[in-house]
Amino acid sequence: KEKGAEFIWFDGKFVKWEDAKVPVFTHALHYGTAVFEGIRGYSSKDNVFVFRLKEHMERLHRSANVYSLTVKHSAKELSDATVELLKKNKMRESVYIRPLTFVGMHGIDLNVTKDSPTHTIIVAFPFAKYFKGDGLKARVSSWRRISDQTTPPLAKAAGNYLNSVLATQECRRDGYDESILLDVAGNVSEASGENIFLVRNGNIYTPYFADSALEGITRESAITMARGMGYTVTERPIPRAELYMADEIFLTGTAAEIVPVTSVDGHTIGTGKEGPVSKSIRQTYEKVVTGGVKEYTDWLTPVW
Ligand code: PMP
Repeated sequence: KEKGAEFIWFDGKFVKWEDAKVPVFTHALHYGTAVFEGIRGYSSKDNVFVFRLKEHMERLHRSANVYSLTVKHSAKELSDATVELLKKNKMRESVYIRPLTFVGMHGIDLNVTKDSPTHTIIVAFPFAKYFKGDGLKARVSSWRRISDQTTPPLAKAAGNYLNSVLATQECRRDGYDESILLDVAGNVSEASGENIFLVRNGNIYTPYFADSALEGITRESAITMARGMGYTVTERPIPRAELYMADEIFLTGTAAEIVPVTSVDGHTIGTGKEGPVSKSIRQTYEKVVTGGVKEYTDWLTPVW
């Protein structure tokens, strides 16, 4: 479905898309023993700017550490490989980039160690909007977000996404666009693939990442930009009911970018349209990722 690029980077070599294959007994396929990243490159000014490439590759390494997976290439090498990959594929459009480190042939042994065989791939394909429309209709999932006591959401591991799949299936079946998950204690954690922010009286709130959510790179970017714009951003627990009281809610994620939530469980949020705070941060983000804000150009890696 995502085919687009001719070449895939596979353990340090460029391999044709059709030839980039793994055995059916690949450990990660059976046990979810893989860590990955989602990165975007934005087409602008005759160039492609990869957003926060270094930070994503460093997070890949941190996720791998949690499960003792060896990533054979440094974050710098993977960043350079990504630029080379886009060049090799002659990509000039906006792209999604997916690095993945997975356990290969390791039988049925659950004792994955630093010495277990791992492979790393980087795939890139043309990508536009993730969510369509002007605002998301969300529901609070009946599934709880995984916790640090079970499979830590701080690590971006493949297996974590079974929880996101269940939540997404439930919300789509019920006619919603996206699910918001509570953590095991009942506080708001994150959406199926995005971090969450609330706006009340012009101030911005978001849950502590350490409780039950991914350390989102868009989240951190949004906090930095919002503070730079003069907003107060506070990290604290957010109870479910506060979702219904918020003036504005927005989600942040590489794929979703910055997107407003206009209703939760049928409760209209604010006016039912994107609010002014969400809008100002979204518009700043759109300028930042395409190289339009000097202050943040060090977040971008130009390809060409
Ligand atoms: N939470 C989850 C569960 C995600 O999958 C993602 C997407 N990577 C995010 C949050 C947002 O993270 P980021 O801004 O780094 O893409």
